[in-house]
Amino acid sequence: MLILVVNCGSSSVKYQARDTSLPEAEQVLAKGLIENIGTKIPSHTEALAIMAEDLKEPLHGREIQAIGHRVVQGGDIFTEPVLIDDEVLQKIDDLSPLAPLHNPAHVLGIKAATETYPGVPQVAVFDNAFHSTMPEHVYRYAVPEEFYEKYGVRRYGFHGTSHDYVTGIAAEFLGIEREKFNAVVAHLGNGASTTAVAHGKCLDTSMGYTPLAGLVMGTRSGDIDPSVLTSLMMRNPELTAERMDQILNKESGLLAIAGDNDMRAVVNAMKDGNERAKLALDMTTYRLAKYIGGYHVAVGGMQALIFTAGIGENSSEFRALTIERLGALGITLDSEANLVRGDDPRIISTEDSAIPVLVIPTNEELAIAQATEVIVASA
Ligand code: ADP
Repeated sequence: MLILVVNCGSSSVKYQARDTSLPEAEQVLAKGLIENIGTKIPSHTEALAIMAEDLKEPLHGREIQAIGHRVVQGGDIFTEPVLIDDEVLQKIDDLSPLAPLHNPAHVLGIKAATETYPGVPQVAVFDNAFHSTMPEHVYRYAVPEEFYEKYGVRRYGFHGTSHDYVTGIAAEFLGIEREKFNAVVAHLGNGASTTAVAHGKCLDTSMGYTPLAGLVMGTRSGDIDPSVLTSLMMRNPELTAERMDQILNKESGLLAIAGDNDMRAVVNAMKDGNERAKLALDMTTYRLAKYIGGYHVAVGGMQALIFTAGIGENSSEFRALTIERLGALGITLDSEANLVRGDDPRIISTEDSAIPVLVIPTNEELAIAQATEVIVASA
């Protein structure tokens, strides 16, 4: 099936055209990124028209058969990918207060896709659907009931498509039935989250009501005592809620501590003896190791620790620093294997490590295309 996978942000559209009838490595027929929507390009409709034009040549005029949209927030309504109709679109829009930067852009993108490709079925694949199996005692916050009932304040989690995808690949790679597979997945990109997988399903994840929670990330603080916000805002009237949101999401994390949000630059600076870079790496790896230890207990003993996404797949230094902190679990890294790069799943721990450590390249576009095909084929 010729599937267009799109990720519509407020100012950009990222896309891939994939032919799912081909072997996985050959599926991508075209891909691209259109930026500056709202400035140079007036709207998502124009952006998708440009995309459709750009796709003509690489697709040799073949018709798109289905469109899969990455949708960040499905609330507790959408626990699986769905075929988009007017009602689904309205519900995605209704969830906008929970993802004000993302869901409105997805709605514009879906409407634009309907104009550009009339009659082509569209599927929404939700970033938090994989986390819908978290039990209530895990997803609830200990706050007044009204927050939950009126405002939907609970933990949702994100990066679910990736956590789900690499869990499946890891179970298969290790020859363990997915339903019997317990693991901890660390998706470490510019945004980062870790997930506790029990019996192949999500039990817990480090992101929460928004993607701000959990690990120290490129520009996000991760977990922080909420009193920091209220206290600073009470003491300094210039620190509005909007400004605080900006600081914690865009000006914190590695960037705040090391002065750079690119892991390569931070690791290099540490190697050059930069103290701030060392502190930033100590903070990020300590936080991650703490989550991994906690999740190991939560899942009743992980059978694998999985690294994925930009940092997880590529930074042998970051992985080694994290695993150094997990000595108590009897995890030992094979330093040679840790240096090997590649697109294939691989084990980077020693044979006698108490728990295998895996690097599994993520592929959210492939996962979205697969989900889209399943929904469209069964519709
Ligand atoms: P996102 O999709 O969240 O934007 P990615 O998964 O692309 O992020 O990951 C981005 C992060 O991966 C950056 O911090 C970048 O420094 C890091 N990264 C990418 N390649 C490498 C590499 N070769 N070595 C170390 N870090 C890398």
